Amino acid sequence: MPEYKAPIRDIKFVMQELLNCDNHYQKLGYEDASLDMVDAIISEAAKFAEQVVAPINQIGDEQGCTWTDGEVTTPDGFKDAYQQYVAGGWPTLAQSVEFGGQGLPHSLNTAITEIFSSANHSFAMYPGLSHGALATIEAHGSEQLKNQFIPKLVAGSWTGTMCLTESHCGTDLGMLRTKAELNDDGSYSLTGSKIFISAGEHDLSDNIVHIVIARIPGSPAGSKGISLFIVPKFNVTDDGDISERNAVSCGSIEHKMGINANATCVINFDGAKGYLIGEINRGLNCMFTFMNVARLGVATEGVAAAEASFQGALAYAKDRLQMRSLSGVKNPNGPADAIIVHPDVRRMLLTQKSIAEGGRALIAYLAQLVDIGHVSTCEEEKAAAETKLALLTPIAKAFLTELGLECTGHGVQVFGGHGFIKEWGMEQLMRDTKISCLYEGTTGIQALDLLARKILGSKGKILKAFASEVTTFCLENADDDAMQEFIQPIKSFGGDWQKMTEKVGARAIKNPDEIGAASVDYLMYSGYLTLAYFWAKMAKVAQDKLAEGCEDEAFYQAKIKTARFYFQRILPRAKGHAACVENGAQSMMALDADDFSF
Ligand SMILES: Cc1cc2nc3c(=O)[nH]c(=O)nc-3n(C[C@H](O)[C@H](O)[C@H](O)COP(=O)(O)OP(=O)(O)OC[C@H]3O[C@@H](n4cnc5c(N)ncnc54)[C@H](O)[C@@H]3O)c2cc1C
Repeated sequence: MPEYKAPIRDIKFVMQELLNCDNHYQKLGYEDASLDMVDAIISEAAKFAEQVVAPINQIGDEQGCTWTDGEVTTPDGFKDAYQQYVAGGWPTLAQSVEFGGQGLPHSLNTAITEIFSSANHSFAMYPGLSHGALATIEAHGSEQLKNQFIPKLVAGSWTGTMCLTESHCGTDLGMLRTKAELNDDGSYSLTGSKIFISAGEHDLSDNIVHIVIARIPGSPAGSKGISLFIVPKFNVTDDGDISERNAVSCGSIEHKMGINANATCVINFDGAKGYLIGEINRGLNCMFTFMNVARLGVATEGVAAAEASFQGALAYAKDRLQMRSLSGVKNPNGPADAIIVHPDVRRMLLTQKSIAEGGRALIAYLAQLVDIGHVSTCEEEKAAAETKLALLTPIAKAFLTELGLECTGHGVQVFGGHGFIKEWGMEQLMRDTKISCLYEGTTGIQALDLLARKILGSKGKILKAFASEVTTFCLENADDDAMQEFIQPIKSFGGDWQKMTEKVGARAIKNPDEIGAASVDYLMYSGYLTLAYFWAKMAKVAQDKLAEGCEDEAFYQAKIKTARFYFQRILPRAKGHAACVENGAQSMMALDADDFSF
């Protein structure tokens, strides 16, 4: 198993030097989030992840969760690690002071989420789901429900879930069958069965708070008739204490490709007591609060997987001796050179490094936008942040998880045949991260959300705020010769992005299938370009640091060299996606469904 070390230096570079978090936090009134505090929290999280969470990753994969008569037991070490996680106050970090949280910024929590997720994807999902549940109750719950449920979720003694999927409906939630019938006391009785519920049942917390979508009899069919409910495993008194068991049970758990230590459950509601949150039939709108938090969390998993795999591959590539370098012997005292001398091994390592570091910058930027959305008092600033988030969330979710998966494949490949052997842990990273491309809306669904709903739905207006930020950056650096290797491609790819958008929009008027045919390639193009912008910005910071004279010269030189690799060897992939978009839907739709044969 590769030994995980949290990339503290790079996290600080992104937060402090690239995104000036000090200024950002002070401006938003996060007085406690001083640089010293941020440093201390990241260092402590790193220590906890490296010493407690990472060591149970492999055993978690081997043992998986076990189900006995409706009770789920997590693998050895998980309960203890979760207790330490709670005792360390980690769940409370970015939660409201009003409910017992520390009131620190969401973006600081996001940095820590990456660390925990790299250390152990399955473990990080347990508290990750609670964040989404909390955000939903806080945004849409009544005061009574907030007081009953939030404090224990904040403390981490209770955990949360998101119950959407049913056996016949995953993407198309409008088909759901779970029903919610009104009781005399104003509560509801929920009946139905949900599948694939992450952390739906386990032994880590005293209670599990399910956030469930269901239909109230008489509501419209389809997605317009969905309402949202809190359904606890144990009922809760008005004061927020646990009372009798609710009619919620875990029917079974799945045996799956990865994240074996996170219980994926069938959850049955047999007239279970639930409480409406938000308005009747507005459940999906409320659920979007949960989904946006969750999508950013899943995008972070892509970065975390790329980083963890990179660390394993890098150590191996420096150690493993095979063949001689094409350009002459590099290790004359050994029987062969370390494989890191070979250009193809470097291609894989640099792909991992450029995606992990570029993705980290994009996620940290998005997390700052979330901070602004939460606490800014300036309506204009808030609206701009929310528009950028709406545009970039599906890009980050789908692009970073697809690239995260690719990077874990490179990790296996760098190890050669040993990468395929479980003992090394590289194949686990690949199996664990595949789910990030699937849950929270598949890559295909994120791409439709981006192109159909957001870009074409707004007639391109949603692009404006982010495009203008990128244009401003290009203009600011127009006279900087050293930056032209980055600025010129951004201008060129950015111009093509605009033209591609207009072309797909025009084609879609004649044939709506053109949208679906273009969508994933369009999203991937957008992702490569977005990451190019963040790599250019990082290169600029590094150049300025080197010009000023700094101690950590090697770090900044590496940033510029990695930026160059990204622009020369990764960004050109976008042209392939543009060509696919250009070729349109015809070849995809030419074969009748009945004529697909084998
Ligand atoms: C390990 C695991 C954990 C999960 N955790 C949770 C959880 O905690 N809570 C929860 O509610 N759910 C959870 N899910 C469910 C997950 O979110 C769904 O599996 C996912 O949304 C896809 O739904 P589906 O599996 O029904 O696939 P389907 O909706 O049947 O889709 C099948 C394929 O068709 C494609 N497709 C469908 N419609 C379209 C379209 N209009 N255009 C283009 N392509 C389309 C999809 O992209 C996909 O490739 C989990 C699933 C797994 C495996």
